[in-house]
Amino acid sequence: MTQHDLVVIGAGPGGYVAAIRAAQLGLNVACVDDNEMLGGTCLRVGCIPSKAMLESSELFYESSRSFADHGIGLQGVTLDLDKMHQRKNQVVKALTSGIGSLFKKNKITRYKGLGRIEGPGRVAVRGDDGTVELTAKHILIATGSVAASLPGIEIDGDRVGTSTDALAYKEVPKHLVVIGAGYIGMELGSVWLRLGAKVTVLEYLDRILPGMDRETADEALKLFRKQGFEIHLGARVTSAKAHGDQCVVERDGGDSITCDRVLVSVGRRPATSDLGLETVGVATDKRGFIQVDGRFATSAAGVYAIGDVIGGMMLAHKAQEEGTACVEGIVTGHGHVNYDAIPGVVYTSPEIATVGKSEEALKEAGVEYRKGVFPFRGNGRARALGQVEGKVKVLADAKTDRVLGVHILGPRAGDLIAEAAVAMDYGASSEDIARACHAHPTLAEALKEAALAVDGRAIHI
Ligand code: NAD
Repeated sequence: MTQHDLVVIGAGPGGYVAAIRAAQLGLNVACVDDNEMLGGTCLRVGCIPSKAMLESSELFYESSRSFADHGIGLQGVTLDLDKMHQRKNQVVKALTSGIGSLFKKNKITRYKGLGRIEGPGRVAVRGDDGTVELTAKHILIATGSVAASLPGIEIDGDRVGTSTDALAYKEVPKHLVVIGAGYIGMELGSVWLRLGAKVTVLEYLDRILPGMDRETADEALKLFRKQGFEIHLGARVTSAKAHGDQCVVERDGGDSITCDRVLVSVGRRPATSDLGLETVGVATDKRGFIQVDGRFATSAAGVYAIGDVIGGMMLAHKAQEEGTACVEGIVTGHGHVNYDAIPGVVYTSPEIATVGKSEEALKEAGVEYRKGVFPFRGNGRARALGQVEGKVKVLADAKTDRVLGVHILGPRAGDLIAEAAVAMDYGASSEDIARACHAHPTLAEALKEAALAVDGRAIHI
């Protein structure tokens, strides 16, 4: 029996950050994960490898598209998909082993195996060499989520697969059908479209990227279609099955589609199976998410939960904020997450980034707002990059001018949104952003201009 102050179950972005922060605060911390590689879905088969593939595929695509505009002539551009995967794997390896080093530096004990709560303050770790029993004052569940599926869809981990499979296709699909136009569908659909696949996206709703600002998502939809995506809205998939090397996808009210790969990206569900929640009475809601209070405490004394497993935005950085706030709460009594200022980014080309309320959410809530929009075609740096599609939209309270939402479709939107998130975290007004000096020529000037536009005084439109 080994005693720790805190046992974290799950070494994804939420769990490993919580473990490090708790160790910094002086706790004796253990982290349990059954995967050889630390970092969870995000680092192994999610955010990081998908970004590596997005980067590589974009270079490949642009080499035959925009390089000529720069006066760069290339002949005989070839695709070495094996090499592309190797590079992706190296990126993953460097980062996952980096977490191991951070654990050593912070004296966090790592247990490899499946963690299961066995009763109050007790966690058993089932590993290759048997079971280790741990005791802990506090247990933090950070087990994340797994890909969801739908009745009628037969995921076989090959022809009909999830994002994990779509990150590792050995050949470029001839025809990839993507079920669901959310984050995963649009990002991984982009990877394979750029590498030469025909990509058909079937989305149940009448729009793509639910939850994102509608006007921004609709503009992105037009750009995606221009890129060659075939996107069907209002298309509810009822079945997807592999038949040898081919797959057949059926949908309500439309012809069935035959293709060679199917990516099922219809959301994710909490990973709580065999965690022993019942041994301590951890309550879940009807969708299986662990219920927590404002300090991430579950219904069981001494057991906390953060990240995808408690629901809300299923984003790595949201889990990291929660992990930090949770352990700071345990140790200091203070810990806070500002859910109004959590950015979301879709790493397509152009990127789509958002923070705060969408325009339709403000309308629905009856909030009066002013809107400032600035298109990237008026931005010098975007012109120099040759990436002028998209715009920045700033939504500010009509009375107080406090920024309520910022939505960006355009080059490096994922980096640009950070300024808006910080501004909103500090309760900034659009005037505050507009008055701050922004370096020229940078893409960030587009945010300043959109903030100026709230008051009708953008300079370059
Ligand atoms: P999602 O919730 O973003 O999108 C799922 C889509 O599937 C929705 O648009 C939904 O309407 C559609 N859908 C559901 N049932 C359908 C049916 N029968 N037929 C057709 N369409 C159907 O989910 P995702 O793309 O699977 O991503 C899962 C989670 O992972 C997301 O919550 C996201 O937060 C996270 N993620 C984030 C990033 C990022 O931050 N860049 C990247 C990948 C994943």
